[in-house]
Amino acid sequence: MNEDRYSRQTLLKEIGSEGQKKISKGKAVVVGCGALGTHASSLLVRAGVGETVIVDSDTVDITNLHRQTLFGERAIGKNKAEVAERLLREINSEVEVKGIITRVTTENAEEIIAGSSVVVDATDNMDARFIVNDACVKLRIPWIYGGAVATSGMVFSILPDGPCLRCIFPKLPPKRSLPTCDDVGIVNSLPSIVASLEVTEAFKVLIGEDPTPELMVVDAWSGDVQKIRVTRNPDCVSCGKHDFYNYDG
Ligand SMILES: [Zn+2]
Repeated sequence: MNEDRYSRQTLLKEIGSEGQKKISKGKAVVVGCGALGTHASSLLVRAGVGETVIVDSDTVDITNLHRQTLFGERAIGKNKAEVAERLLREINSEVEVKGIITRVTTENAEEIIAGSSVVVDATDNMDARFIVNDACVKLRIPWIYGGAVATSGMVFSILPDGPCLRCIFPKLPPKRSLPTCDDVGIVNSLPSIVASLEVTEAFKVLIGEDPTPELMVVDAWSGDVQKIRVTRNPDCVSCGKHDFYNYDG
């Protein structure tokens, strides 16, 4: 390992050389390779996380380019996970990088995340987040929920004993009830803020520190940042009853 590469990070008292060793042994799975996923995977790879896996079934579209920072015009029409893997390897050849072209489902989620130290949510829909939540709680892998739409985003670190996403949302919200970037747009400065907070939480998990316990809400336009306390629901279908992938309640 080239010592110089991480020198500005090991200087930091929050990480240090001991923290760096743990980061270098960690494995992160980034679910989704859109705006959050391109930012998050780049930061994880640059930080020297031992292995980063990025999962997405989509191809790059011209409407993605304004915010999905790994992609340029040459990537249009190509698989996001494949392009990301190649570019991330160019950023840091000392770590493992793997792109998986698939959509996370109840059938493949556990296989994809098994053996990872932390999972970073970079999906754009609640169906996928529910699957990630249940797979992570079941396999006892910490995961970082992140969402960004319009000017506002959220980050919440979830540990296997909860509170989990389904303590907040017991049931899947009705289809099309939540705004998406396709409907209402997104300011392109927002995903880097949300992904940066997610990755910082992931560093804490990798180092063995407690992540931020509150749900963080940030508005890129107004500059407002809020922290909201979340309590565990002892009757939670997922972290309470361990009735995984039951979304009908
Ligand atoms: Zn829960």
